Amino acid sequence: MNAFLTISEAKSLDSSDPLRSYREMFHIPKWNKQDCIYLTGNSLGLQPKGAKKAVLQELEDWKVLGVEGHFKAKNPWMPYHEFFSKSIARLCGSLPEEVVSMGSLTANLHFAFASFYRPTKDRQMILCEKKAFPSDRYAIVSQLELHGYGENELIEVAGSDKSGVPDDDEILKAIEKYGDQISVLLIGGVNYFTGRLYDIKKITEAAKIKGINVGWDLAHAMGNTPLSLNKWNVDFAAWCTYKYLNAGPGSTAGLFIHKKHHEKNLPKYAGWWGHNKSSRFKMGTRFDPIKTAEAWQVSNAPVLSMASLRASLDIFDLVPFEQLRNKSLLLSNKLIQMLDDIKNKTGEEIEIITPREDSKRGGQVSVHFVNRDRVFFEKISNLGVFADWREPGTIRMAIAPLYNSFEDISRLEKVIYESLEK
Ligand SMILES: *Cc1c(COP(=O)(O)O)cnc(C)c1O
Repeated sequence: MNAFLTISEAKSLDSSDPLRSYREMFHIPKWNKQDCIYLTGNSLGLQPKGAKKAVLQELEDWKVLGVEGHFKAKNPWMPYHEFFSKSIARLCGSLPEEVVSMGSLTANLHFAFASFYRPTKDRQMILCEKKAFPSDRYAIVSQLELHGYGENELIEVAGSDKSGVPDDDEILKAIEKYGDQISVLLIGGVNYFTGRLYDIKKITEAAKIKGINVGWDLAHAMGNTPLSLNKWNVDFAAWCTYKYLNAGPGSTAGLFIHKKHHEKNLPKYAGWWGHNKSSRFKMGTRFDPIKTAEAWQVSNAPVLSMASLRASLDIFDLVPFEQLRNKSLLLSNKLIQMLDDIKNKTGEEIEIITPREDSKRGGQVSVHFVNRDRVFFEKISNLGVFADWREPGTIRMAIAPLYNSFEDISRLEKVIYESLEK
């Protein structure tokens, strides 16, 4: 076998990678005493080495200071969520006052819908993409039902390609056709299944012309693809932080609300942490919302779970985002070419369902080994590869450029050959 990417070639590519040192900042799970090939950063990002210290800091302050930690902790808990806004804003292209670290992704979608899904007689529809992440669809349908509607008011744009996931044009056509009846559009910026990246700017623009409230689920986009939510005029967005943002299982999510909505006093689910800070502790009866995205925050910050997010953002803060995106594309292109090469050399039927153009994908490569089943997936798993299996036969592999390397791709190639042979 002539390797497409030999270990020595891979090592040489790694040594000229400007981001090579970042891998050292993460714990890489081991397999057979060596690093495993971790390609599930789209599901749970790896632990930053600083996470433990960050969590222990808060435990220590709680131990020593008790309630006074709200003001006297090294990172005071009272404004704790504010320590995240700048870093998050940079990643999503917003103003710091347009984002708030809170809650969980699906819950935040509901919070946003409370404000942005205000159906009228003429406009009750919600538009999403076919093959949306199930939780998003559940959330959308339940919102319709809360307002006395149901699946009849859901426009799910289907894709004509095999994956069933629509492309930009198919979404734009649906906006053109149904736009006047649509109240809210919610789409996953990067599709979790195929890894397709949408033209968020163009779709938002078209939907805004039709008077639609535009929301994006950025679970697979934050920390992965370049975003400019403020400039693109997106109304709201939500994301989780345990995927590409490496903040740990169930870590605190985020919500973006465009600045143009901050003064409007939109209806919302209110709570005391969204109340004017100067009078919050007067414990008054009337809700006086903060004039930023923080108005949507209902509760005080879950400090222990947010500490690991801080450790992760400390790493992101150091990296120019273009470098991150460049490396992600370099590695995922290598992965695609490597799979093509195996297909050409062996005749194995390998279908890549992720769009090939750089501008149409995140860092994930979804691949269908047409004549293989779960046994093949288990073989590669048993040889130290973390990937993700989705019925009926798609393997998702994600590049997380902070810790993945060319060596990972080279070693993966060897594992795939070995597993095909058996
Ligand atoms: C990962 C993911 C979720 C998960 O939702 P949680 O509320 O964080 O459990 C939801 N939507 C999309 C698109 C996802 O990729």
